[in-house]
Parts: sequence; C-alpha cells; structure tokens
Amino acid sequence: MAEGLLTADAARSLVGSVDAFLFDCDGVIWKGDELIQGVPETLELLRKLGKKLVFVTNNSRKSRRQYSKKFKTLGLEVTEEEIFTSSFAAAMFLKLNKFSPEKKVYVVGEDGILDELKLAGFECFGGPEDGKKNIMLEANFYFDHDKSVGAVIVGLDQYFNYYKMQYASLCIRENPGCLFIATNRDPTGHMTSAQEWPGAGTMVAAVSCSVQKEPIVVGKPSSFLMDFLLKSFNLETSRMCMVGDRLDTDILFGQNTGCKTLLVLSGVTTLPELQDASNTIHPDLYTNSVYDLVKLLQQ
Ligand SMILES: [Mg+2]
Repeated sequence: MAEGLLTADAARSLVGSVDAFLFDCDGVIWKGDELIQGVPETLELLRKLGKKLVFVTNNSRKSRRQYSKKFKTLGLEVTEEEIFTSSFAAAMFLKLNKFSPEKKVYVVGEDGILDELKLAGFECFGGPEDGKKNIMLEANFYFDHDKSVGAVIVGLDQYFNYYKMQYASLCIRENPGCLFIATNRDPTGHMTSAQEWPGAGTMVAAVSCSVQKEPIVVGKPSSFLMDFLLKSFNLETSRMCMVGDRLDTDILFGQNTGCKTLLVLSGVTTLPELQDASNTIHPDLYTNSVYDLVKLLQQ
C-alpha cells in the first residue's frame, strides 16, 4: 500500500489517534551535532498536547546519560528515561537473559556500550582502548584471547581494526556458548552533519563474515527494544507513532511492532527512494520534517 503525504487532516487524525511519539534521532532531531529546524517547537507542541515522547536511537556511541547531555547542549529538555539507545538495549539484553556476572563482555564499539554495561554491572573490555592495538602478521604469530568472554557486542566503532576483528572472532568461535550481539545493522549514518559514513552494520558484517554466524540484533528494527520499552511505560503500540528517516530500520521497526509510522525526509531517505518501484517498505505517512506537524496542526 502506498504511503500518504502528511496533510493537515492527516496530522490532526494522527495526533488524535496516538498517545506517544517515538522519535529516531539522527536525521530526525539532529544531523551530526546540528539541530534540525523546528524540532524544539515540535516537541513543545506535542508535550503540550499531552503526548509521551520517546527517543529511540540505533547509534551506540553514547550512553543514555551522554545522550541526555547532547539534548541539553542542543537546548532540548529530555530525560534519560525518555532515551532508548542500542547501547542500553545491548546491556538490557544481557540482563534480561541472565548473563552470568562471572563472564566478561568483549566490546567492538565505543564508550556508550562500555558505560551501559558497567552501569548494568557487567565486566567488559575492548572499546576505544583496543583501537590503539596493532598486530603484525608474522610467521607463527599466535593471538591469545580471554576464555571467560561470554558475549561479544558489536556496534559503531570509529576505532575499528584488525585486532578487534580477530579478538571478537576468536571469542565467538572458540568460547563455548559465547553470544554474538549487534547493536544494529545500519549501513550508513550521519556521523557528522557534512556527509554519510559507514554505520555499525559494516563492523557487524565484518565479524559476521569471519565467524560465519548471524548476530542477535537488539536495536531497530528488532522488536527487543520495543518489548523493553513496553515494560518501562504503560503504552499500547497501536497508540504509538514511530517517526524516522530510515525505511529499513525506523519504519520497519514501527511496522514490526504495530505502531503507526511517519517517514521524514530530513535524513537519509529521499522521496525518489521512497517512491521507487523496488522499495517494499511503505510508511503510513511521510513529510519533509517533524516541523511540518506544527505547521499543519496550526492550519
Ligand atoms: Mg536516523
């Protein structure tokens, strides 16, 4: 079914039929470190209308606490409880699956994942520290790894290297029962406001290829995050609207979990891509940016 353009009528009916708006961040709220125009007015209006706001990001580089600081820096009042990151989801996945505190977690990713794991009480290592490590492929070189690692988490990692790839691969391949968890599989993202960069999916693909195994994905479009969200808030998915800029993560996540979906064209997806015959993911509604909600509701 083809998506509909967000009109004034559609905006009124959408706002009337949902209690909560779930926002992706990158490409919806901001691009890199730049706030997208009209976001403060939009959030203010929705809050005034009594809507619950939740921010759901696949970017695992920061923890919830760090994200709440980023919102503040951009002039937005958002609490940690309103933020769901894939780094937090990874830690909660281990917690809900009763991951043994005796075991360690190896992290291919950045501080966000390490911080959330530590907050949840897990011992972890890797991360930016291992980005400084080099290996020399010399004759008879043997690479040792910690046999007590029971889970490997792979997320976006600007310090990704061959050392980490080997470490992660050895743990997954040789430690019995070692979990292989991906924060998300986004191919790209606006890591800076100037252009698109390779996403966590590229690091996940490298490790997955090496171990010949598929990871457990905890971020969008996996429903794990939603299950967790539903436990945290008393909400019904049919009374939620997922607002995002990516079809294969945000919109699919919304559809997989039974939410209404609104695609904004302020991020990675373009109108020609949305309308291309090869596209199979169709949001309920689409518009240029979240600010249109304010403009249309005032009409
Ligand atoms: Mg996005």
